[in-house]
Amino acid sequence: MKEIILLKYGEIALKGLNKSTFESIMIKNIKYRLKKIGKFSVTKAQSTVYVEPDEEISDLSETVDVLKKIFGIASICRVCVCEKDFSDICTQSLEYLEDILSYAKTFKVTAKRADKSFPMKSPEICNQLGGVLLEKFPNLQVDVKNPEVTVTVEIRDTNAYVHAENIKGAGGLPVGSSGNALLLLSGGIDSPVAGYMMAKRGIHISAIHYVSPPYTSERARLKVEQLCEKMTDYCGNIAFFCVPFTEIQEAIKNNCPEEYFTVIMRRIMMEIAQRIAEKDDCLALITGESVGQVASQTLSAIACTDAVSRIPVFRPLIGMDKTEIVEISRKIDTFDISTLPYEDCCTVFTPKHPKVRPALSDVEKAQAQFDFEPLIQKAVEDTEMKIFYV
Ligand code: ATP
Ligand code: MG
Repeated sequence: MKEIILLKYGEIALKGLNKSTFESIMIKNIKYRLKKIGKFSVTKAQSTVYVEPDEEISDLSETVDVLKKIFGIASICRVCVCEKDFSDICTQSLEYLEDILSYAKTFKVTAKRADKSFPMKSPEICNQLGGVLLEKFPNLQVDVKNPEVTVTVEIRDTNAYVHAENIKGAGGLPVGSSGNALLLLSGGIDSPVAGYMMAKRGIHISAIHYVSPPYTSERARLKVEQLCEKMTDYCGNIAFFCVPFTEIQEAIKNNCPEEYFTVIMRRIMMEIAQRIAEKDDCLALITGESVGQVASQTLSAIACTDAVSRIPVFRPLIGMDKTEIVEISRKIDTFDISTLPYEDCCTVFTPKHPKVRPALSDVEKAQAQFDFEPLIQKAVEDTEMKIFYV
């Protein structure tokens, strides 16, 4: 008995003339990720990707776990490969489905005939295979409306395939199909989730992080690197830029009115991010902001931050509650790292009473009290880069 995996597309299937570009990016991503766990042949036919283990890989669970994190895949089916012959389909099904059908109470059979030349029509396949399974497993009853197990037979061009489970894929579009963007990555809960959400839309992300030693520790930086590493599961390889931010923060503290400290800091973060984005071919920035979460995320504060940006800033969490964000961070396994207790540079020198509704003209005036340009240039020059690989 031979088991392989079939992957079904979601949105890519609707892409018309561009479909093959999306398909090839997704297949490239799949091959790259699977290289780590063994040898596979990965091919496509009829809007389906076939993943066949070349070597004797007896358990495909690890393969499925990797595939579940690849964007562009709508569903994952472990299937048994049969001859295009009804009696082989029956024999193989009895063996392949034995475990699952021995314990189920209800089932139904569905059939998909991509190869219309197959001599039996779909209803006939369902009836006859259903009969064979009922005879072998007396514990079973047919329930077409709400079955515990749905046995699917797919008649395709070279073979027939039988399966009984449909595992949900990560959905979205293949990473790399929508260009590059730069994620402002803090050590918090929100920004890794924001990166995940944009990667899901096919964006290949790089990450930028600001550190203020000695106010922020080496451990805080390592925490963010750990987050980056974890994010590669979904996002692919990530270029990580670490910006020395101490001098800038000290200059803001010593030269600008305290109540504008945070908003000026965020404007300078944006300015630096844009310059790095330009060098790294990123067409947009991504942040983990959500309206009203803190003083720097009121509409007025966001407007003041946005005023310095020359490229689009994506804030995929803008309308989400913290509980919804936490739910995703648990799903993508960044929550436990994010909640480690190290400080972020945003919490260094925070004013007691930040302006909740800063006016842009006041912020500009406050910022103009010091010439930040030389420090900004220096921070960009001194930025360190390293790459985290899948
Ligand atoms: P997070 O949970 O992502 O840290 P937050 O709710 O703590 O977000 P802020 O600290 O105001 O909110 O940060 C808002 C956004 O600014 C973050 O989501 C992130 O995109 C960016 N950011 C904050 N601090 C840093 C940092 N040290 N380096 C890079 N980006 C940062
Ligand atoms: Mg934060």
